[in-house]
Amino acid sequence: MESKNDKQSKLDVRYLRMARIWAENSYCKRRQVGALVVKDKMIISDGYNGTPSGFENVCEDDDNVTKPYVLHAEANAITKLARSNNNSDGATIYITASPCIECAKLIIQAGIKRVVYGEKYRLTDGIELLERAGIEVIYIGLEDK
Ligand SMILES: [Zn+2]
Repeated sequence: MESKNDKQSKLDVRYLRMARIWAENSYCKRRQVGALVVKDKMIISDGYNGTPSGFENVCEDDDNVTKPYVLHAEANAITKLARSNNNSDGATIYITASPCIECAKLIIQAGIKRVVYGEKYRLTDGIELLERAGIEVIYIGLEDK
């Protein structure tokens, strides 16, 4: 018999793989990140890193530096919910990369209870903040999945 935990981890891998596919929508050249917000087994929001609505779809300046107004995938997914009838209270967010501290703050305030991410980053302050807030943080290396 498959345990509830096994079933959840299989779902986690699949949603994370979907987030990775979603990241392909990003027109950013340096890095493509995708995020999905899942609640009660439904994808209620999605995001990838990019400029705000109405701005040109270019993330990098002439020196190939990411523009300061590029939104991270998590921020796009969470703010998209602000314009919907849904909400992220108690949801899980799947992110292809480790969240930064700014996005970690948004995740906490959005009431998200689980974070599943697929790529570690040199800075771990975002992850540490999430853990301090009592959010369940799960790393799944996607390289071999
Ligand atoms: Zn971020």
